[in-house]
Amino acid sequence: MDKGSAGACSICGRARAPRSRNPAFPFCSAGCKLVDLGRWLDGAYRVAGAAAIDADELHTPREEGS
Ligand SMILES: [Zn+2]
Repeated sequence: MDKGSAGACSICGRARAPRSRNPAFPFCSAGCKLVDLGRWLDGAYRVAGAAAIDADELHTPREEGS
Protein backbone atom coordinates (compact mmCIF):
# COMPACT_ATOMS: atom_id res chain seq x y z
CA MET A 1 0.00 0.00 0.00
CA ASP A 2 1.35 3.40 -0.98
CA LYS A 3 0.73 6.10 1.57
CA GLY A 4 2.90 8.64 -0.21
CA SER A 5 1.95 11.98 -1.67
CA ALA A 6 -0.10 10.45 -4.45
CA GLY A 7 -2.39 8.80 -1.99
CA ALA A 8 -5.49 6.74 -2.39
CA CYS A 9 -8.85 6.87 -0.74
CA SER A 10 -8.86 4.52 2.25
CA ILE A 11 -12.52 3.72 1.63
CA CYS A 12 -12.66 2.83 -2.05
CA GLY A 13 -8.96 2.75 -2.89
CA ARG A 14 -9.21 5.14 -5.81
CA ALA A 15 -6.81 8.01 -6.34
CA ARG A 16 -7.76 11.09 -4.38
CA ALA A 17 -7.15 14.72 -5.19
CA PRO A 18 -4.63 16.66 -3.13
CA ARG A 19 -5.79 18.35 0.06
CA SER A 20 -5.49 21.80 -1.53
CA ARG A 21 -8.39 21.14 -3.86
CA ASN A 22 -10.18 18.33 -2.12
CA PRO A 23 -12.55 19.29 0.71
CA ALA A 24 -13.12 15.61 1.42
CA PHE A 25 -9.42 14.90 1.98
CA PRO A 26 -8.09 12.36 2.92
CA PHE A 27 -10.90 10.68 1.04
CA CYS A 28 -11.65 10.91 -2.68
CA SER A 29 -15.12 12.35 -2.28
CA ALA A 30 -17.73 13.51 0.19
CA GLY A 31 -19.40 10.14 -0.24
CA CYS A 32 -16.38 8.23 1.02
CA LYS A 33 -15.95 10.75 3.82
CA LEU A 34 -19.49 9.97 4.93
CA VAL A 35 -18.82 6.25 4.74
CA ASP A 36 -15.88 6.68 7.09
CA LEU A 37 -17.93 8.87 9.42
CA GLY A 38 -20.70 6.30 9.34
CA ARG A 39 -18.31 3.54 10.32
CA TRP A 40 -16.97 5.62 13.17
CA LEU A 41 -20.43 6.49 14.44
CA ASP A 42 -21.60 2.92 14.05
CA GLY A 43 -18.82 1.78 16.34
CA ALA A 44 -19.56 4.54 18.84
CA TYR A 45 -23.27 3.78 18.88
CA ARG A 46 -22.63 0.09 19.19
CA VAL A 47 -20.57 0.62 22.33
CA ALA A 48 -23.11 3.04 23.79
CA GLY A 49 -25.99 0.78 22.84
CA ALA A 50 -24.44 -2.26 24.44
CA ALA A 51 -23.86 -0.37 27.66
CA ALA A 52 -27.41 0.97 27.63
CA ILE A 53 -28.92 -2.46 27.05
CA ASP A 54 -26.76 -3.92 29.77
CA ALA A 55 -27.85 -1.33 32.33
CA ASP A 56 -31.47 -1.59 31.23
CA GLU A 57 -31.58 -5.32 31.75
CA LEU A 58 -30.11 -4.94 35.21
CA HIS A 59 -32.88 -2.62 36.31
CA THR A 60 -35.84 -4.00 34.40
CA PRO A 61 -36.12 -7.76 34.19
CA ARG A 62 -38.10 -9.07 31.27
CA GLU A 63 -41.78 -9.57 31.82
CA GLU A 64 -42.72 -11.79 28.95
CA GLY A 65 -46.01 -13.63 28.72
CA SER A 66 -47.76 -11.55 31.34
ZN1 LIG B 1 -13.21 6.95 -2.10
